[in-house]
Amino acid sequence: MLAVARCIATEHDASMIALAVLVCSLGTVVVTQMFEQARASRAMARMCWIVLTSVAAGATIWCTHFVSMMGYAANAAVRIDPLLTVFSLMVAVAGTSLGLWVALAGAALRSAAIGGALVGAAAAAMHFLGMAGYRLDGLIHWRLEYVATAPLLAMALAGAALVVLCGERLGRARIPLAAGLLVAGILSMHFTAMTAMEVASFAPDESSANSDDRHALGLATALVGVIAMAASIAAALVDRRTRAEAFRHLRRLAMTDSLTGLTNRPGFNEALTSRLAAAERAGTKLALIAIDLDRFKEVNDLYGHKAGDDVLATLARRMSEHLRAEDLIARLGGDEFVALVECRNREELLVPLGRLEAALTAQVDLEGFAGSVGASIGVAVYPDDALTAETLSTNADLAMYRAKREGASEPCFYDAGIDEVARRRTELAHDLRIAVQTGKLELHYQPQSRVRTGEVIGYEALLRWKHPTLGTVPPSVFIPVAEEHGFMVTLGEWVLRQACADATKWPRACKLSVNVSSQQLNKPGLLELCERVLRETGLPTHRLELELTETAIMENRERGLEVLRRIQALGVSVALDDFGTGYSSLEIMRRFRFDKIKLDRFFASELGDSNQALAIVRAVLELGRSMSIPVLAEGIETRKQLDILIREGCEEAQGYLLGRPVPLESLVDEDAVRSGPRGYSMTDCPSRTAAAQ
Ligand code: C2E
Ligand code: MG
Ligand code: MG
Repeated sequence: MLAVARCIATEHDASMIALAVLVCSLGTVVVTQMFEQARASRAMARMCWIVLTSVAAGATIWCTHFVSMMGYAANAAVRIDPLLTVFSLMVAVAGTSLGLWVALAGAALRSAAIGGALVGAAAAAMHFLGMAGYRLDGLIHWRLEYVATAPLLAMALAGAALVVLCGERLGRARIPLAAGLLVAGILSMHFTAMTAMEVASFAPDESSANSDDRHALGLATALVGVIAMAASIAAALVDRRTRAEAFRHLRRLAMTDSLTGLTNRPGFNEALTSRLAAAERAGTKLALIAIDLDRFKEVNDLYGHKAGDDVLATLARRMSEHLRAEDLIARLGGDEFVALVECRNREELLVPLGRLEAALTAQVDLEGFAGSVGASIGVAVYPDDALTAETLSTNADLAMYRAKREGASEPCFYDAGIDEVARRRTELAHDLRIAVQTGKLELHYQPQSRVRTGEVIGYEALLRWKHPTLGTVPPSVFIPVAEEHGFMVTLGEWVLRQACADATKWPRACKLSVNVSSQQLNKPGLLELCERVLRETGLPTHRLELELTETAIMENRERGLEVLRRIQALGVSVALDDFGTGYSSLEIMRRFRFDKIKLDRFFASELGDSNQALAIVRAVLELGRSMSIPVLAEGIETRKQLDILIREGCEEAQGYLLGRPVPLESLVDEDAVRSGPRGYSMTDCPSRTAAAQ
């Protein structure tokens, strides 16, 4: 160590050493930055960056060496072999290239250490090759311990530098630390190797002219080195800028809706978060305006998708033009748009809302479509209606759904009192959807019995849902929710499949009644679904009965009745549910031959108390008799009600008195489940007492 310090102090020119340190420091900073670029690139780009970094690193090592040598007082005449000198530069570049490539070839820090050691070895090789071309007029004695130490120092410090650079722990501090380690590696190697050299000159050379030449050459080398580094920095900057621009461009594309050129959903979510934060800081209000086009589906269905796309693009352009530059309008998908408008109070919103309405209701004149589309608009304002992005969006949507439901011609502002009910339904829909997906719904079966004998002739499948926090939710609540949120068809399909599968496990081959909603009847595919389910479950066709209310059929009467006729042709029976509560139209009885009429439970509940109820029961029973359609009375709870029905000649009944809805397990005894369906005749069905337990 002392010998090295003495070598530096006594055999070198201080100004040249300072210059060498400067060149080395600048160079390593450039090299570490460029190495970062190489690390961030892939494939061909990475190779190019490795080559460029190696050129800068080789030049740094070589310039540091050359400038230091120009400050070395050899005390003898010196001649420099140009070939070896140039070759030493090439070795520095090639060796560093290999080292950097190895460092980046593997993900482990071991690769970085090996690569760094190779860089250090390249620097040492450069030094000794350079010294071989440094011809002195004298005898050189090499002190081997220093010759051996010099490369080891370079390899260890350069290895450490690349390990630091490739590790992530130190963050941005890695770069100066790694540059420092590299500087230490190059300089310590150089001066240790110089200490290894003892020169006995033949004719000491002390001319000052020679020293001036060396200074000039040293300066020139340093200058060329700095120019090379500047070129590398410029390349790195250009690359970084190009990359940043490409990144910005890609980001813009990812945040833009390609059809309308408006911000898309991810872009909007980001903008909403940042604008809410800005509104909070500035203490202003931010209105979220949810917009859903009214007649868009019609345009798409009647005029084609091209016309639909043109309408969307036109309305998007109009809305952007009608809002201020600082407001944001985005398309969330389909015909759903949303706007963000900053305001000081609600009154201030009336102007932009009026403009949006005008843009949306104005006539659209396009090649494929001419007319007005219109939209339902809902508004929620931060911080009055919500404090978070999510709640603000939900509340604006709730207000918009209300506008749609009510066919409102003006925007609806979120109103906690009104919209809370809708919110609870939306939440319930969400929970129900999860319950459907995770199989948390259950079917219970309620017996339908022959009144005189009490013999069970069939079971009605009734859906049951136990909500994790709300407890049991009745079907009269959750079925309309499923219908509103568009998954009643999926739910109905599950009911049919599950009920048919369950029915094959019953010990008695009774009839299975399954309720069918209007949405199931009106959506194409009910007939095919029945066929498929019967085939898959193996339930005989005659055992299945579908129950429909008049309301369900009346929604699309002609089509509905046609579907029912085809289903009946399969051998499946069709019952008219809840008769007496809906339209009670005799017309429908004339148009379709039902297999059963189910008299609504309202009449049973009135039996014994109301003469009108008794008169209606009599009339319906007479209607059934005259048309040869069996009538089943629903909701029988008392013996008195049953006795009246028996007296009036009613054949079939259903109600708590005869049996409550029970899960499959309570219906089937273990042995029967194991032996499977046995094709018993109707008269073999379990008695009402068994079913009622
Ligand atoms: P519904 O088809 O008329 O079914 C009979 C309803 O009356 C059932 O109510 C049943 O539990 C109830 N009930 C039976 N006997 C008595 C009684 O003696 N007294 C009283 N108070 N009620 C009795 P639930 O299970 O709450 O179902 C209500 C309605 O929900 C059903 O009326 C049906 O329209 C619908 N529903 C149930 N499950 C399904 C299903 O899987 N699909 C469809 N589309 N609708 C279903
Ligand atoms: Mg029913
Ligand atoms: Mg009913």
